[in-house]
Amino acid sequence: MTVQSEKDRRGADGAPPPPAVEMRGIVKRFPGVLANDRVDFEAAAGEVHALLGENGAGKSTLSNILTGLYRPDAGEIFIDGEPVQFHSPRDALDARIFMVHQHFRLVEPFTVAENVVLGDHRGEGRTFRLRHRAIEQRVAELSKRYGLAVDPRARVWQLSLGEQQRVEILKALYREARILILDEPTAVLTPQEADVLFETLREMAAEGRTVVFISHKLHEVKAVADRVTVLRGGRSVATVSAADATLRSLASLMVGRELDSGQPARARTPGEPVLELTDVWSDADRGDSAVRGASLVVRGGEIVAVAGVAGNGQRELAETVAGMRRATRGKILVCGKAIRAGDPRSAIAAGVAYVPEDRLGTGVAPSLSIASNLALKGYRERSSSHGPLLRIGRIREHAVELIQRYSIAAPGPGAPARLLSGGNLQKVVLAREFSGKPRLLIAASPTRGLDVGAIETVHAYLREAAADGVGVLLISEDLDEILLLADRVAVMYEGAIVGETSREEADVEEIGLLMAGGQDPRAD
Ligand code: ADP
Ligand code: MG
Repeated sequence: MTVQSEKDRRGADGAPPPPAVEMRGIVKRFPGVLANDRVDFEAAAGEVHALLGENGAGKSTLSNILTGLYRPDAGEIFIDGEPVQFHSPRDALDARIFMVHQHFRLVEPFTVAENVVLGDHRGEGRTFRLRHRAIEQRVAELSKRYGLAVDPRARVWQLSLGEQQRVEILKALYREARILILDEPTAVLTPQEADVLFETLREMAAEGRTVVFISHKLHEVKAVADRVTVLRGGRSVATVSAADATLRSLASLMVGRELDSGQPARARTPGEPVLELTDVWSDADRGDSAVRGASLVVRGGEIVAVAGVAGNGQRELAETVAGMRRATRGKILVCGKAIRAGDPRSAIAAGVAYVPEDRLGTGVAPSLSIASNLALKGYRERSSSHGPLLRIGRIREHAVELIQRYSIAAPGPGAPARLLSGGNLQKVVLAREFSGKPRLLIAASPTRGLDVGAIETVHAYLREAAADGVGVLLISEDLDEILLLADRVAVMYEGAIVGETSREEADVEEIGLLMAGGQDPRAD
């Protein structure tokens, strides 16, 4: 390993070393978008430096410039104080700058070891067999040393996304990367895997490398970084020490304004149970049971989150409670009364509102007007009580009111729903479901794909609903969101609720472990 010591890096006169990477005044335009607007960024050897920003802030663009994938329209890059110009990714690799992209660039039929050396032309004089064995050995060594568990002989297609990511990092280590950039690396990881990754990154920094960690998740940035540079709207707005920053201060730098308090302002005791699930089972779309003996209680006025890695039966559970999927076993009580299995009308009548994950499928009829979409549920309830003309007038009036109250950016109540952006579609579904005055609100990944502004609005709606006495069942994979909103957290794994904790006692480690199928350490 050739990593410089602090002493080596200091000049003869003892002056502090120049930053390992410095980017000054970087500008990058795409048609109609200024993706990087005079961005300044610098990171030192030996630090984990987070690049924090909302979706579209310009993080990936900046790192693609640093790795020679894009040419900047203006600005300068210095490596160890020396100006450089990268004309291609090759140039950046030669400077030992390596990036782990969001979409991995591995060759699936090849083994881990083969992928690690792919594109590396050092040591080609030796015979293939010799090299092969030496490479496998080296990969095994690196994997052990850095806690990047993966079998050098496994083929990439056999690996989980977390393992594939480790292969990318091994590749960087094999090439003795000095600067490693990871673009939203935790997006494919469970919290547990993320923690393991953070240890690896800290280790790499401790050796004198520079790690640039890109994320939009505040608690991760706090957990792993030494310093944080915040990008907003293509500009670098601040660089702060992670230890001094709070989640709130980071959040407001990221979105550019003060956020409302993360703590729900409700000093209330939960009310009567609005949902009681006892040993509920239901089938997957194809084949086996997806929900396997789930038991859970949600009381009026509380937000109960179901955490879990997607595909552990959360969607089927929500659909079962919403009456859209038949329970094959067990008991579902809404406000103390059994709902008819597989009958959404019975669920609606009992006071169940459902904001599905799949907004454009089950949530919204894209070709119908916004007004019709806002009325869909009420329409079903009241269709017999009024004449058709009266109904159309009512529906329109109701829509205008909701569009205003929920600030839905729409051309008008008559426009087809498909013209709306994701955030506004979500508001339509929420507005409709809330205005039905539910007792139980099921929200499945209600903020997925939304920008931070829209996310805040949705969170405010959910809190408001709970403050009004509605029981909220929040299904989410996003632990930030869960810890921000939930009074209680239940973890779902392989169709069952495998653990439950209050927000005060919630421990990210433990939740992550349960999500990954580990045992609750307190269980025995
Ligand atoms: P982030 O990684 O912070 O989410 P990006 O750097 O990907 O942000 O994007 C910044 C802005 O530049 C966005 O508005 C995005 O749509 C735009 N953009 C990024 N890459 C391209 C591209 N190759 N072509 C056109 N626009 C792009
Ligand atoms: Mg990005």
